[in-house]
Amino acid sequence: MKLVFEKSKPGHRSYSLPKLDVTPQPNLLPQSLLRKAELKLPELAPIEVARHYNELASRNLHIDRNFYPLGSCTMKYNPPISERLVSHPSWLSLHPLAPASAVQGALRVMYELEHLLAEISGMDAVTLHPAAGAHGELVGLLLARAYFKHKHEDRSIVLIPDSAHGTNPASARMAGFTPVEIKSTPSGMVDINELKRHATDKLAVIMLTVPNTLGIFEKDILKIAQIVHEVGGIMYLDGANLNSYVGWVKPGEMGFDIVHFNLHKTFGAPHGSGGPGGGALGVKKFLEPFLPVPRVKKRDNKYYWDSEHPHSIGKIHTFYGNFLVNLKGFIYIRMMGSPGLKKVAEHAVLNANYLATLIREILPIPYPGPYMHEFVASGKPLLQYDVRTIDLAKRLLDKGFHPPTIYFPLIVKEALMIEPTETESKATLDAFATAIGEIVNEAQTHPDIVKNAPHSMPVKRVNEGKASRDLNVNYYG
Ligand SMILES: *Cc1c(COP(=O)(O)O)cnc(C)c1O
Repeated sequence: MKLVFEKSKPGHRSYSLPKLDVTPQPNLLPQSLLRKAELKLPELAPIEVARHYNELASRNLHIDRNFYPLGSCTMKYNPPISERLVSHPSWLSLHPLAPASAVQGALRVMYELEHLLAEISGMDAVTLHPAAGAHGELVGLLLARAYFKHKHEDRSIVLIPDSAHGTNPASARMAGFTPVEIKSTPSGMVDINELKRHATDKLAVIMLTVPNTLGIFEKDILKIAQIVHEVGGIMYLDGANLNSYVGWVKPGEMGFDIVHFNLHKTFGAPHGSGGPGGGALGVKKFLEPFLPVPRVKKRDNKYYWDSEHPHSIGKIHTFYGNFLVNLKGFIYIRMMGSPGLKKVAEHAVLNANYLATLIREILPIPYPGPYMHEFVASGKPLLQYDVRTIDLAKRLLDKGFHPPTIYFPLIVKEALMIEPTETESKATLDAFATAIGEIVNEAQTHPDIVKNAPHSMPVKRVNEGKASRDLNVNYYG
């Protein structure tokens, strides 16, 4: 397939603008800011542009076309009705600087979403400002820092299990803490003895993912909360996996003091390609004074912005977060209602355990279940044929499946982290397991086919490391 630049034909146009009817003012801008040569944009007719992008979309594997079991990411089907609703001109024409009296509906959405999330999570207060899960982590840890500073307590340690998402230690470091890793037990849980060793008056926060990235529910969660609280530490929940128990269990009742939500995972807002996300954050009462400002409040049936919070950590996002993403979360929660959200969790867990049962016949799943919403298999047996998990993942593309997350979590060798999500049918899960089985057979009989996959994609193996370390987005070099 050709690049849009290569398809360019001089003179082909997608627009017709009227002739300039004012005198150009070349001296309005400093010379240094003026373009010296003409901008080399591709020249194409509208139909060529449409075909180009449709062709690209049809070559891409995406959730509207393919099963996308990307562990940890919850790539489920998101109802397009949300897109329709948020595209209504009354939302799109809102201005973030409009006075509160003119945008009461938008403030009401934010206010009610905060309260819905507080109810779902068992927290006392919620902020919608964070732009994604990782941003929520950073904000949560900044709250913890502000809280300990306020109490004149010098605590530097943030404990993080070795199964955690990489954003956890990164956020801890960015917030000025020292991340310390704790090992998992052979069954994939937090090692209580190791936790006790670290439970000192230097402990600030423990960041837990429940269920963890192995898809396993932390059965000692109440004991962990007790140990951490006894030494004055804070319990942080990485809530990325909330779709596995939403509506059934409240993190606040498990002993958590802070939780971030990924509205773009659990609550039906689409995500991918680094697009805008929603990382709302819930806290218990004692952390509320530190939440970012402005906060949306309600008095005499009117909604207003409240910035009078002297202990607030301040602003962490322009205005108040990604409003339209939060709005999609609100629509999703209101559409599903409490019974619908409970079904989300039921089906997420059922699908993961059903698929694990099929995959276990083909590849080992080192940590025992039962699983919540995902599980981690290992491609280690394929190494004897010189086939690696990356090869299996690339071969899945030929079979029309987006590969699962691979090589994460790090504690499983040749990991394949599989999250089917609640929106997939039994037939799809069966077809996926069949494809994995076929590839494993192929690895034994024709390893070269697997090792040179994909065979059907417009590009073969790309150097992912180079793409991020040596970024060059300029087609003209
Ligand atoms: C996705 C994820 C994150 C990060 O969330 P983003 O919204 O992508 O920033 C953190 N922890 C876990 C377990 C996740 O799955």
